[in-house]
Amino acid sequence: MTNKIAFITGASAGIGEATAHKLAQHGYNLILNGRREGRLKALQTLLETTYNIETFISVFDIRDRKAVENGINQFPEAFKNITLLVNNAGLASGQGTLDKGNIDDWEVMIDTNIKGLLYVSRHIIPGMIERKAGHIVNLCSIAGKEVYANGNVYCATKFAVDALNKAMRIELAQYPVKVSGIYPGAVETEFSIVRFHGDEERAKKIYEGFDNLLAEDIADAIYYVVSRPLHVNINEMIVMPTAQPAPGIIHRT
Ligand code: NAP
Repeated sequence: MTNKIAFITGASAGIGEATAHKLAQHGYNLILNGRREGRLKALQTLLETTYNIETFISVFDIRDRKAVENGINQFPEAFKNITLLVNNAGLASGQGTLDKGNIDDWEVMIDTNIKGLLYVSRHIIPGMIERKAGHIVNLCSIAGKEVYANGNVYCATKFAVDALNKAMRIELAQYPVKVSGIYPGAVETEFSIVRFHGDEERAKKIYEGFDNLLAEDIADAIYYVVSRPLHVNINEMIVMPTAQPAPGIIHRT
């Protein structure tokens, strides 16, 4: 078995799924996480037959602290020495001003994007320190660099990921464990469908009239970041659609 093992959270859709393909293409064995087991099983079959790699499915909700611990403890021996953690699972839920905000939406974003990422990282970092090797890639967002109108809590959670990305790097460089943040602009995935609670028509409008990024563009960026030589670390990579020069500005035809 190859010694390259990547653990991708949120591999059942979008950027996580595209990253699974990209890493598999380059010989990584994969631990695939998400809540939708059926999706993960279909992806597992496709990856194993297409790329001749080994995979392990780990179904848990990253917001559930105990489930994260149990799930990670059950990784098979052959998958325990994780070389790459892609902290990708995340979401926006709702959009609007704070005075009319849905507090349940806020909790979901804070619990997933900040607390879930921390729970997962807490269980993976010690092994990387012990082995004196590893790379953590955190899916941040342009929303973690600049706040846009009505993005308030989502932006706040991604500012937190930006802070955690920096904090991890400060703590882990000495071992050496690499830490990199990816900061995408608009990528067409299930992201907006989730944000608008299943309203596909409204979600589709977000991507009308311009060439948005594809999940594969971000997977390419992630592979570039993780394939640099040991002495080179990409601290942060901001990847935007050409038509989106800043989060609140999109040039539509
Ligand atoms: P997506 O298509 O909705 O995929 C999100 C993935 O996260 C799914 O696999 C989902 O799987 C998983 N997930 C969500 N909540 C989870 C939980 N509690 N536990 C485990 N898995 C969970 O969205 P995406 O665009 O690929 O987003 C991936 C990351 O990129 C997110 O962190 C997002 O904030 C970031 N990002 C996206 C964009 C964009 O424009 N799309 C831009 C910047 C940053 P299950 O539903 O099966 O659990």
